[in-house]
Amino acid sequence: MDATEYRIRGKELVDYIADYLEDIRERRVFPDKKPGFLRDLIPDSAPIEGETWPRIFADIENVIMPGVTHWQSPHMHAYFPALTSYPSMLGEMLSNAINCVGFTWASSPAATELEMIVMNWLGKMIGLPENFLHRKNGSGGGVIQTTASEATLISLLAGRWQAIKKYKELYPDAENGEINSKLVAYCSDQAHSSVEKAALIGLVHIRYIECDENLSMRGPELLQTIKKDRELGFIPFWVCATLGTTGACSFDNLDEIGDVCVEEFLWLHVDAAYAGSAFICPEYRVWLKGVEKVDSISFNPSKWLMVHFDCTAMWVKNSLALHEAFNVDPVYLQHEYSGLAIDYMHWQIPLSKRFRAIKLWFVIRNYGITGLQKHIREGVRLAQKFEALVQSDARFEIPAKRHLGLVVFRLVGDNIITETLWKKINSRGNIHCVPAIIKGKYIIRFTVTSPRTTNEDIVKDWQEIKTVATEVLNEWTP
Ligand code: PLP
Repeated sequence: MDATEYRIRGKELVDYIADYLEDIRERRVFPDKKPGFLRDLIPDSAPIEGETWPRIFADIENVIMPGVTHWQSPHMHAYFPALTSYPSMLGEMLSNAINCVGFTWASSPAATELEMIVMNWLGKMIGLPENFLHRKNGSGGGVIQTTASEATLISLLAGRWQAIKKYKELYPDAENGEINSKLVAYCSDQAHSSVEKAALIGLVHIRYIECDENLSMRGPELLQTIKKDRELGFIPFWVCATLGTTGACSFDNLDEIGDVCVEEFLWLHVDAAYAGSAFICPEYRVWLKGVEKVDSISFNPSKWLMVHFDCTAMWVKNSLALHEAFNVDPVYLQHEYSGLAIDYMHWQIPLSKRFRAIKLWFVIRNYGITGLQKHIREGVRLAQKFEALVQSDARFEIPAKRHLGLVVFRLVGDNIITETLWKKINSRGNIHCVPAIIKGKYIIRFTVTSPRTTNEDIVKDWQEIKTVATEVLNEWTP
């Protein structure tokens, strides 16, 4: 394909994408396919000769779309949102064209500097204290990571490095491996599985603190477990507090946990993967109380802020801790300003880094803070509407308080009835949800995801759920 054809095909694809997104409501949100379906549709070896674009283009609808789960659909209620927007798509297009690999400042100065500036914008937008921002002679700052899981792992590894260093100051003869084997990380019993994965990778112990009746990890329970571990000869070193858990969007008590971490000298990380976007609205920042006691915090603009996956915003107060944990400095990566400018390769696990700041910059500029706040508040309003509909039907219950855009609900009765309801809903493909288990109760999660969702969509989805519920209850009622 040459530039002349690219200009034509590119415009065709832009039209196709706009049509896809504008008409997405009409598509079945969850595909009716079985594993391996694509093997029957695509040859098992690559073509010897290049194919024409029209043949390739036709396969988007013939081959790919029938097997897509349409995450941008207003009837997508599974997981948490993974939204796009037109300015974000334009940002991706441009960064793909530039395709620089911003591991050091010199490898593409604009990529590093835009990331620093936009991370400062975003940090201010969610009300982070100044010492999390890039400042002259400051040690704090923001970085865009690939995923929240990676941000959690990075935080754990930085905390681990600091803990080992501190321990060796007291016991210089201790081996790193020996210290590592005594380290303990803490999170709530509602924390995302990525926290467990980080502990697995870091080869550290992990303790799950039982949440209170509001599904919130509290300071006293955490402190008690830490003290018990110290008595047993373990070395507590790192805590992950979740703001907006995956199961029910509950919030750990950051203020209390922060006090414990300060007193006990533990690294405190905040995983706000979904809920963090809502902190651009001042009314939701109550959950951030105590953030000044935190060492690192991350959230995904790629979830609710209409910036494409991948984009996880992460801030640290002490970037030197990342440098120490990840610092390798081969000669071929050094440049005239090494040590003077930020080299993001020291802030992350991979060396290479996409120019992700462009899409974030485009989205923030094009919507403005007000436009993004409006988007968040509309998502919450629609979730409240759905919540009211569920509450109006005595066959259902909402076993955990709704927060933000996530409603969890179930049919009153045994877990198996709700599980059957969930399976039937998904198999019909008109709406898509995922389940969770909260304090032993099987629930269905209903997240408002798309900016295209309207009141009518919510009513239609509720109608679908009610219809299927009637069928299920008829089957289960003797
Ligand atoms: N943390 C929480 C609270 C989540 O809800 C999720 C995913 O939804 C994650 C972490 C993992 O996010 P990622 O896919 O960006 O690693």
